[in-house]
Amino acid sequence: MGEPILQVRGLKKHFPVGGGMLRAVDDLSFSIRQGETLGLVGESGCGKSTAGRTIIRLYEATGGEVLFEGRNVHRLKDKELMHFRRSMQMVFQDPYASLNPRMTVGSIVAEGLDLHGLAKGRQRKERVGELLHAVGLNEEHAGRFPHEFSGGQRQRIGIARALAIEPSFIIADEPISALDVSVQAQVVNLLMKLQRERGLTYLFIAHDLAMVKHISDRIGVMYLGKLVELADADRLYKEPLHPYTQSLLSAIPIPDPAVERQRERIILQGDVPSPLSPPSGCPFRTRCPKAMPQCAETMPPFKEIEPNHYAACHLY
Ligand code: SF4
Repeated sequence: MGEPILQVRGLKKHFPVGGGMLRAVDDLSFSIRQGETLGLVGESGCGKSTAGRTIIRLYEATGGEVLFEGRNVHRLKDKELMHFRRSMQMVFQDPYASLNPRMTVGSIVAEGLDLHGLAKGRQRKERVGELLHAVGLNEEHAGRFPHEFSGGQRQRIGIARALAIEPSFIIADEPISALDVSVQAQVVNLLMKLQRERGLTYLFIAHDLAMVKHISDRIGVMYLGKLVELADADRLYKEPLHPYTQSLLSAIPIPDPAVERQRERIILQGDVPSPLSPPSGCPFRTRCPKAMPQCAETMPPFKEIEPNHYAACHLY
């Protein structure tokens, strides 16, 4: 693994709602090294997708900074901004909604090439053919329309579109959540193959830990706009420290019936509180089975508990 290609420092994205402020992303910090995959996980509404969209500058940040290749993304202009737009691409969750139904697959995949003036005529056609091949489709598919494809194939088209301008970094925002379970592994395997072949770096966003297990080098767990735990993937699965991570892991079924019968399930009470009025102290305290009086008073700092294993919890 190389140097950090992305550094997120104290990132905030707040939205004014009614008379209040929705703190969708609140003081998020992490970095991703060149060639690494960081899985970002949390229940719906935890801010993970907003974080992805703020990092790629679909949203302006409310505070903090995002450094990509050492440059502050939210201050880029002109040529530097153009370079950034080419270097970082996004694959979206819903392959049904994210592909324009009136465009052919060839035009969809070539969007970036056209926008950046990278290929025309025969060269453009060849490039589209190569990209479709790279994602397991073929050049004859270029003349068809999205509705002629299955969900998994549409996500492959979305991936080909993201790859067209040769980015070095891809934010995959729940790329497999809308797909059948039988197809999910195929898309994950494709992303891993493309990463090996092209040296890509990924931020892989998902709502459950089972989905990021195979692809992630490290995993960050988010709750109410904040990271509550961050560790190497193996470590996080074997020794989760934060009670929220422990509960998420306990919800994943284990294929061995003997182990499955014996292990303890942690059922979380209630829903995620509204980010419009987060609880005092630890944001997880209203659902935490281990909450103590101290948890209502002060926010636990996000700190390194063991080497390269961070968590925000008063138990440590
Ligand atoms: Fe639970 Fe307290 Fe730890 Fe929060 S700080 S996760 S409420 S034990």
